[in-house]
Amino acid sequence: MSHEVPNYIGFEEYSEHVPASIPSAVQQATSRFVSGRASRVAELPQWEELRQIGSDIRLHTIENMDVYLTRLEEKVQAAGGHVHWAQTAEEARQIVLQIAREHNVKSVVKSKSMATEEIGLNHALEQAGIEALETDLGEYIIQLAGTGPSHIIVPAVHLKKEEIAALFSEKLHIDAPADPVELTRIAREVLREKFLNAGMGISGGNFLIAETGTLVLVTNEGNGRMCTTMPDLHVAVVGIDKVIPDWESLTVFLKLLARSATGQKLSTYTQFITGPSREQGEFGPKEFHLVLLDNGRSNILKDPVGREVFKCIRCGACANVCPVYKNVGGFAYGWFISGPIGAILSPQMLGTQTARELPYASTLCGACADVCPVKIPIPTILRHLRRRVAQGDEFAEATLPVTIRTTAGLASFALAQNWLYRIGTRILPWVMAIFKRDNWIPYAPYPLSRWTKARPLPPFNAGFRGWWRKVRATSGKESAK
Ligand code: SF4
Repeated sequence: MSHEVPNYIGFEEYSEHVPASIPSAVQQATSRFVSGRASRVAELPQWEELRQIGSDIRLHTIENMDVYLTRLEEKVQAAGGHVHWAQTAEEARQIVLQIAREHNVKSVVKSKSMATEEIGLNHALEQAGIEALETDLGEYIIQLAGTGPSHIIVPAVHLKKEEIAALFSEKLHIDAPADPVELTRIAREVLREKFLNAGMGISGGNFLIAETGTLVLVTNEGNGRMCTTMPDLHVAVVGIDKVIPDWESLTVFLKLLARSATGQKLSTYTQFITGPSREQGEFGPKEFHLVLLDNGRSNILKDPVGREVFKCIRCGACANVCPVYKNVGGFAYGWFISGPIGAILSPQMLGTQTARELPYASTLCGACADVCPVKIPIPTILRHLRRRVAQGDEFAEATLPVTIRTTAGLASFALAQNWLYRIGTRILPWVMAIFKRDNWIPYAPYPLSRWTKARPLPPFNAGFRGWWRKVRATSGKESAK
């Protein structure tokens, strides 16, 4: 089943979004995160134990999500907050717009939120005549650039400081220098005034603690704190998968998250919000709304293999080590969550009709699973989704074109027959000779033409059996001596 996701970038449009600096900017940033993570993890002898506990808590929560969500709702309401359930992206957008209309909101400040990216909230707000401003520096940059994020935690990772300076100069009509400190100062000046005048603050959420109905925000910039305390109205849009049982669980995830994401012991700001401010003079908004977003998550929960994707704590460590992500960048994944986690989440959420290439966009090297702080078996889920694309299962029909499925079936049959394989490897060099040019195959007939459209194929080396016979004969002679 596919769910509406308004900001999907199609494969064909991908090239329009790729700045010239990919992959070098991505490689530079991700290698910094990888070495930072390694140092912090080495300081913690019980790291593997923590990973296992984190994984167990997430699995337990996934299996009992209805219980924890019900508890969460009761606790948020008891603390004076409002809870809204959104089955689809459209429902979530309408809920936020309705709240904004009721309070006559003209401008909104936002802290970084993947859930609002998922539902295309900025676009909906702008269409309704409400200014929506991203206040996380990376999100602010990509909002100016008019693109989506290219990394889960570092949205503008694909841009170098020179490109950001050029963007600021063009969009803000100033002469911005390529200096990170100066660029941050410029952004801060623009944003400070917006915080003061906004009618509504919108955030996502890293975790939702069912025990007390508390929203947890983990940030490094302090903008999240300003979005959620300066305006009188705070709306948090959070996926239902973010619920965790209690505060004790949180202590595990906070240790895993910062180390895996940025190589820090703890992120700079960890904020806890339990309902609106309760007393006159208490810091915080007067009204708090929590929008719990489903948008296909309930369906994914039914699949015992695929649902492990919801163990994710969105640290981005899998992308930082992925050899594919580092070379193609985030936009190639076609959706706002990129990297290995995107490759297992998008096909389940968007449907394999829309995102069937993603499970194949992996070398299955397993580096992602090795670093994942909550032990998500990413390669296993990738293979599970490949099977779904090729053969279909009880959750989705096969989406691979019939021609490719038939060809793969025939190839599988042929490879399993010894005599057929032997004849095939004898004939293959003759067939390849027709297409070979300078030891490459620049054009091949369908279905291999899908590959050669993009790059030439090396000729198949089908002489293994002959080579093996020679090796055996030589080693026989050697041992006879
Ligand atoms: S899949 Fe694991 S490594 Fe990747 S973002 Fe999620 S928690 Fe982090």
